[in-house]
Amino acid sequence: ARTPLIAGNWKMNLDHLQSIAFVQKLAWSLRDAKHDYGQVEVAVFPPFTDLRSVQTLVTADKLELRYGGQDLSVHDSGAYTGETSGAFLAALDCRYVIIGHSERRQYHAETDQVVADKTVAALRHGLVPVICVGETADDLEQHGPSAVPVAQLRVVLEALASDADIVVAYEPVWAIGSGQAATPEQAQQVCSALRQSLDEALGDEAAQRTRILYGGSVKAANIAGFMAHKDVDGALVGGASLDVDEFSSIARFP
Ligand code: 13P
Repeated sequence: ARTPLIAGNWKMNLDHLQSIAFVQKLAWSLRDAKHDYGQVEVAVFPPFTDLRSVQTLVTADKLELRYGGQDLSVHDSGAYTGETSGAFLAALDCRYVIIGHSERRQYHAETDQVVADKTVAALRHGLVPVICVGETADDLEQHGPSAVPVAQLRVVLEALASDADIVVAYEPVWAIGSGQAATPEQAQQVCSALRQSLDEALGDEAAQRTRILYGGSVKAANIAGFMAHKDVDGALVGGASLDVDEFSSIARFP
């Protein structure tokens, strides 16, 4: 069985001091609730400038909380001003890295090919890429529910071997930050189509092993509905991941 993953994408929120306070409170909250991280994995994705602080706290307090970057460079080092390499994330003990978030695709013109290249870069450094796909409201109207996310994922999968350790996140753009989440049935339908693409590109073992998350206006009040569906293996949470109590209760959905 796939271990559910509840992931908090902080986006450009919380500086390094705030990140320390936040992670401390989150760890206390989950400890008080006797959270079993083996049953539901929990990860946070802070801004780059917070990662060293988060690492220090996780190491000092021996926390089982995972963390990762929100992006990485396709390059490993060199003259790429402003970029952060997978090697640097790996050196901070990041487990994961988000790739191809719709905000990167939209504001930084990241194409499917860039997302594929970044995925390969992440794997090169032993990071688990959390590959984001999802359709806009226009895409949904024009192409139906799964065509665009499936097409986006296929480009990435072409670059991968069947033993690649990845996570896929289905985030409909129209559901992000809108308060208008997809229905659990909509999420299941697309996650199932994405699993089918994994099967076609990487084989059955990879399709059965790989976790597929839903993201877009997830909160404590709606998480259980998503998790009740067989192809939804967790959530990528934005706004609600910035509130300790809310995020903690999302992680305690079972
Ligand atoms: P919200 O949970 O704020 O809708 O954001 C989702 C998201 O983009 C997570 O990556």
